[in-house]
Amino acid sequence: MAALLCLLSSCGGSSPGSEANTGTGAFEEPPNVILFVIDTLRADRLGCYGNPANPSPTLDQFAKEGILFERMWAPSPYTATSHASLFTSTYPATHGIWNRQRLDSKDGDIFPALPDSAITLAEVMSELGWETAAIAGGGYVNERRGLAQGFDYFDSHTFGAVNRVGRAIDWIKEDRDFSRPFFMFLHTYEVHYPYLPDEEMINRFDSEYQGPLRKAVSDARIFAEDYIAKFPEKSPIGPVQKQFFKPLFEREDFSDRDKEFVFALYDAEIAIVDREFKKLLQFLKMANLDENTVILVTADHGEELWEHGYFGHHRVWDEVMHIPFLAQIPGGPEGVRRSDSMDLVDVMPSLLKLLEAPIPQAAVGEAINWLQAPAQAVERVHIHQANWPKARDAVRTGETKVHFFPDEEFPPQVFNLAIDSNEANDLAPTNAGQKQIEQANQTLESFLQFSSQLRKTWNLFPVFHGLGSFTSEMRSELEGLGYLDNEED
Ligand SMILES: [Zn+2]
Repeated sequence: MAALLCLLSSCGGSSPGSEANTGTGAFEEPPNVILFVIDTLRADRLGCYGNPANPSPTLDQFAKEGILFERMWAPSPYTATSHASLFTSTYPATHGIWNRQRLDSKDGDIFPALPDSAITLAEVMSELGWETAAIAGGGYVNERRGLAQGFDYFDSHTFGAVNRVGRAIDWIKEDRDFSRPFFMFLHTYEVHYPYLPDEEMINRFDSEYQGPLRKAVSDARIFAEDYIAKFPEKSPIGPVQKQFFKPLFEREDFSDRDKEFVFALYDAEIAIVDREFKKLLQFLKMANLDENTVILVTADHGEELWEHGYFGHHRVWDEVMHIPFLAQIPGGPEGVRRSDSMDLVDVMPSLLKLLEAPIPQAAVGEAINWLQAPAQAVERVHIHQANWPKARDAVRTGETKVHFFPDEEFPPQVFNLAIDSNEANDLAPTNAGQKQIEQANQTLESFLQFSSQLRKTWNLFPVFHGLGSFTSEMRSELEGLGYLDNEED
């Protein structure tokens, strides 16, 4: 691991056992860290980000007692891609870990994995003495994608938020090494489609709807339970999507009322995660771990619910790019809402700065000051990247967002988010819009050049796996999650 340390900048280099001044008041002892990633959670559906349906009382209260970041952006709309950015503090243009890359060949798609040369957050934490554990949802968050690097324990076969939180609690209670602090990455596919909340939870959000989706959800839940009983190692998500939801979503008479019910289902799934998160917080309190555990809550991307005519997460509209970020730090700020602009790549350097730990030199994210936001708003640039056939990149500069599309038939679009947060009024036809496109294009070009250079400097070339090289177990896991038979993931 000496090689790893050589690649870390010298910004402190404390280790568990040494006294660390965090800038938030010195920790008496090195804290535990829980990084909770709620897959596919868009910010605006949490109560604390403005959803009046109240699906997230625990997360809202958690935010009130800690820090809420109002403007947190995902680097991509995909699971493996955003997680690779979160874990390495590099952008997709550098690490190249797309969910999958489509090839025009009979060999099928390829699945890039993080190379060993990448330095992950878990590797740094492990090197510094934290015990590292991941309770993840599998699918695109697994060993085969290089995302298990640095974890002493990596569980990606526990199905559902309820069981995963239960597994996390059991690990903390029984399995960990009690002589040192732990770093836990907890990940759940609730609130990822298909949404299968129970009837009682659905009725909390929409008890009146009697359209076709209500029965589909109920049938799908029974199907999923049988499926899990028959194939405990497989996820029923893929078959459920295909059999129960897709045919309905594609129906011509799929109405606005049906779509409204989908929002209720999504909120109901959030409520389930919220309920499980409450169990975790209660356990930490009971185990006297709440006073020395840093807890960060975020997502890898959000979800389009037909705002731009489409369902899913493939494109870079703000319903997909705007994700929540909540933090509680023992002895840290309470009840703070920050409006400085942040990116998922900032999490790693910011956390390491908090722990006064060294930050890998390849990390491009900003290490924030946890005590307070910058006095003056900085017009920061954020780049969002997709590799879906119909979507590409967006450049966000302050309140201006420019979309670039791969298909030449679709010219770039420009939106002024200050007055048009729904990205509905394209300013491309205006002179100012054309100028902004030109500037964004230059920004994107420099960013891509910089990213490519970074890839060379730190040897971050992804390792490619053809589907044929996957074990049958991994293949069936991906199939189970609906990833392989869905042209549009
Ligand atoms: Zn995801």
